Amino acid sequence: ATVLITGASGYIAVSIVKELLDRGYNVRGTVRSVVKGDYLKNLFKAHEPRFQYVVVADMSNEDAYDDAIVGVDAVAHTASPATLVARDPQDVIKPAVAGTLNILESVKKRGPSVKRVVITSSCVTCMQPKAGEPLLYTEADWNDHSVNEVQAKEIDVDQPHKYRASKVLAERAAWSWAEKHKTEINFDIVTILPAFVFGPLLNEAKSLSQLNETSRIFYDAIKTEKPPSVATKQFSNLVDVRDVALAHAQAFEVEKAGGQRFIAASVPFSWQAIYDALNSANPPVSNVPKGTPGAPISDRSIFVSEKAQNILGVKFRSLRETAVDMLDDLREKEVQW
Ligand code: NDP
Repeated sequence: ATVLITGASGYIAVSIVKELLDRGYNVRGTVRSVVKGDYLKNLFKAHEPRFQYVVVADMSNEDAYDDAIVGVDAVAHTASPATLVARDPQDVIKPAVAGTLNILESVKKRGPSVKRVVITSSCVTCMQPKAGEPLLYTEADWNDHSVNEVQAKEIDVDQPHKYRASKVLAERAAWSWAEKHKTEINFDIVTILPAFVFGPLLNEAKSLSQLNETSRIFYDAIKTEKPPSVATKQFSNLVDVRDVALAHAQAFEVEKAGGQRFIAASVPFSWQAIYDALNSANPPVSNVPKGTPGAPISDRSIFVSEKAQNILGVKFRSLRETAVDMLDDLREKEVQW
């Protein structure tokens, strides 16, 4: 079977490509440039000719994926502006929504063999304000708050709401589209909602400027001479990029996953928890800030991932394994360490 993966050059996507190739699929990746495609071609040369790429320069064009989709059996749609800093919220919302709708339209028009489209959404789509401690977020939650904030404040909205709204609106657009066209299509949709993703980097990362946003945040927190004073505060929930890739691959193979959303998350983390895990690793890891060893996380919100564990059968890696392997990779690639 052939899987089309959009945004194949991205941090998460390259791990998904690897997982799919390892499982024996043919993979066709869309990239925005030949340079990015050639990097992947070279990375996966052991799998030649099962990995191919096509250039889709702008997914906002209505027929962007019309050629790429021909002959494909399943789709992983990961391409989306994954930036936590934007000027105008529409700079991230428009491409996120248009890319999602355009891939679905192309499947409807020219992908008669496609049975399933797996979309990379995000845990931020569940972060609806709530009361209680710990705060538990599940797939039943929807972050309308960020969408409302963007609507009310537009360009002046707090930064995090821009990206969050783009993910909510893109995922909602997919579900509404599927509902509207349900009598005309032969495929279903699954959405995967990763928490903050860390772990090994297979994407090209020769310099700091090539790091994706979450790898960059990890780098900054470890490379720092002076740990942030709020290191004990919860930063987010974490998930390993290899487990996110597994969740996507399983989403193709588990029949009853169709029509469902799945949170992919391991544990809540603070930078202190990451420092402690790295500093007590065996073999030891050098040059990691100490902070205040053992200090507990000061507040806690949890993305509940039982559904992914039970239905997709994904077991999430430990914080230590993820942190150690990510740091190893960043140092090995000599990202200006
Ligand atoms: P990357 O920035 O590495 O990947 C983003 C991918 O989307 C790249 O392939 C990029 O292409 C492509 N892309 C971005 N903007 C556009 C656009 N306007 N048109 C076409 N393609 C575009 O980040 P991640 O791997 O982290 O993100 C991948 C997906 O995972 C995204 O959907 C993101 O929202 C989601 N996600 C990420 C999380 C994380 O913690 N990292 C958590 C939850 C969800 P190019 O390489 O050419 O720039």
